[in-house]
Amino acid sequence: MALKIPAALLDQLRQHSERTYPYECCGVLVGDFDNSGGKMVMAVFPCGNTRTDSPRNRFRIDPMELVRVQREAMLAGCDIVGFYHSHPDRPAHWSAIDLAEAHWPLCSYVITGVEKGRAMFTNSFQLQDRDEAKHFAEEAIEVNHLHTRSKDRTIQRGTMMPNEISISPSLYPCAGISSPKTANSAHSSAYASITKTIAT
Ligand SMILES: [Zn+2]
Repeated sequence: MALKIPAALLDQLRQHSERTYPYECCGVLVGDFDNSGGKMVMAVFPCGNTRTDSPRNRFRIDPMELVRVQREAMLAGCDIVGFYHSHPDRPAHWSAIDLAEAHWPLCSYVITGVEKGRAMFTNSFQLQDRDEAKHFAEEAIEVNHLHTRSKDRTIQRGTMMPNEISISPSLYPCAGISSPKTANSAHSSAYASITKTIAT
């Protein structure tokens, strides 16, 4: 299983992490789940970090923004397949708080480590199981170059990414592959818990 993402979109989220430095950035990844459990990212939605109390080491996506992204994804026939955020001057590895605040099973949680304003490593972790058993599993990031037809390449974990990719990002048409029912129901319950949290 892997997270497949066009180079332009990976570059887009990495640039976002540099723009918000020394604060954390965050956003949503929209695309398709494939039948083998992998994911293909079709669009990146940068979001505002609402954690004004501690934006250097915390992030929180505005629930209303999440609702908007989810609606746009549905209209395009896509799903939310993951989330991304940055770690200013910290490693690109999940923290205990990241795990505690992750509520979307099967989704990817992409983290970019930023050192002195420059995006360094980008890693992805898939959330597995739920409640007491939930945990992150390392996940490969497969970068493809849709516009150049060059061979796909896989980023090795911890590999420094170049910043010179400059293909204009856009909303790629979804492949129309329906998501596994388990993923949909998991998302619905996670979404319900998010809205419930906000209401209280
Ligand atoms: Zn984090």
